Amino acid sequence: MAPPLTRIGLAGLAVMGQNLALNIADKGFPISVYNRTTSKVDETVERAKQEGNLPLYGFHDPEAFVNSIEKPRVIIMLVKAGAPVEQTTKTLSAYLEKGDCIIDGDNEWYENTERREKEVAELGILYLGMGVSGGEEGARRGPSMMPGGSFEAYKYIEDILLKVAAQVPDSGPCVTYIGNGGSGNFVKMIHNGIEYGDMQLIAEAYDVLKSVGKLTNEELQSAFTEWNKGELLSFLIEITADIFGIKDDKGDGYLVDKVLDKTGMKGTGKWTVQQAAELSVPAPTIEASLDARFLSGLMDERVEAAKVFKSGGFGDILTDQQVDKKQLIDDVRKALYAAKICSYAQGMNLIRAKSAEKGWDLALGELARIWKGGCIIRAIFLDRIKQAYDRNPNLANLLVDPEFAKEIIERQTAWRRVVSLSVNSGISLPGMSASLAYFDSYRRERLPANLVQAQRDYFGAHTYERVDIEGSYHTEWFKLA
Ligand code: NAP
Repeated sequence: MAPPLTRIGLAGLAVMGQNLALNIADKGFPISVYNRTTSKVDETVERAKQEGNLPLYGFHDPEAFVNSIEKPRVIIMLVKAGAPVEQTTKTLSAYLEKGDCIIDGDNEWYENTERREKEVAELGILYLGMGVSGGEEGARRGPSMMPGGSFEAYKYIEDILLKVAAQVPDSGPCVTYIGNGGSGNFVKMIHNGIEYGDMQLIAEAYDVLKSVGKLTNEELQSAFTEWNKGELLSFLIEITADIFGIKDDKGDGYLVDKVLDKTGMKGTGKWTVQQAAELSVPAPTIEASLDARFLSGLMDERVEAAKVFKSGGFGDILTDQQVDKKQLIDDVRKALYAAKICSYAQGMNLIRAKSAEKGWDLALGELARIWKGGCIIRAIFLDRIKQAYDRNPNLANLLVDPEFAKEIIERQTAWRRVVSLSVNSGISLPGMSASLAYFDSYRRERLPANLVQAQRDYFGAHTYERVDIEGSYHTEWFKLA
């Protein structure tokens, strides 16, 4: 017997698609599913049966899949970004009708979404680009979702998204209509850039504590577990504490010590940094975290460089300093928190700059709210960001919010101690130092940029402004030298 018409369809049944489809069915919305490789359809149908006879119906044929959904039809695509999205959109559009809607749940480049929105609009089809965060577990239990594009399309499925999203007590479901065009993808891209920053800052905290403070994995686990009870409470701190406690199942010791120090990446961090340059928005912490991944990839060169410098008398650690472990743990916690404020300030300013350029009118506090659950950067800290933008929606920078400013002032001495200790020990802290330099540049009334501008005018007649008299000036410096 043919299944009843379903409420929604989902195409692309790899890790994310399969779990999101089961989540939607679990919330009581009958769903049709389709995948190019049909074995994944059968696998998903089987899982739906095993997980409680969920209302999920599998299709091997795209036309039958499309026709099984009630009108106006809504289909979420979760296939690989780029050409696969192009092909799947083409395949499905052939059977879709005017008023139907496609939602692309990929980490897609926002301009691709805007182009596709225009293309399918010619067929009368609505389009949303929806960032989805939270990985496999998030997709199944409740992700954070960032839908942008057609508001009409969002309204079709708002009831589903509100139920499927992660639910945070007192803050509501982790989804909101982001804005027009590619804004959902853009916001998800910056979310990922911020995630790069968070991960790098945590890795640096680990490095100082382990390499300089000589903490064991047990001590690291206990420090991170303790941190996870306070201002740093977050998913990433929690999983980091877990990682320190996991023993190697293929040998002695702990697994983390056997993992190769080479970080992978898929591209959203790089796009974030490219956008920072395009928009002239400083984002040094996020940039440092991307550079740290590039440097980690130069494994062979690093191993050779270590040999060169060891033969010149440089050990891994330059000076073995005696440190008070308890004091160091406390200092690093403060440094991590202060550096994190700077990193989020950069990410939020990137979103604000793009929003102004595109006329998206994005609400920064609302973004902090939907990141509070479901996603990788979920943290208690996001509450404070939301409050800062509630206090002042036009806040120029999170650093000057009175609460954050107070927190930074309270932590800056510890932060400087950690950075100095590491510099003297030869342990690089690119993220924490970049955050500190960002803070120290942002808070200063006068920077040495006067000299750079004088140099520019000297060699290139680029002119300069004066601090005391209005207007644009050029000096023939070389004649006066
Ligand atoms: P994925 O490995 O990125 O993609 C696999 C899916 O794409 C399969 O359904 C595959 O179909 C389909 N596909 C590949 N090439 C295709 C083509 N030419 N035509 C039609 N379908 C094609 O899967 P994923 O990890 O589940 O991620 C899905 C999307 O969610 C990605 O854009 C990813 O960036 C995003 N995302 C992933 C995560 C995560 O934690 N994994 C988190 C957030 C967002 P076949 O089975 O036929 O090969």
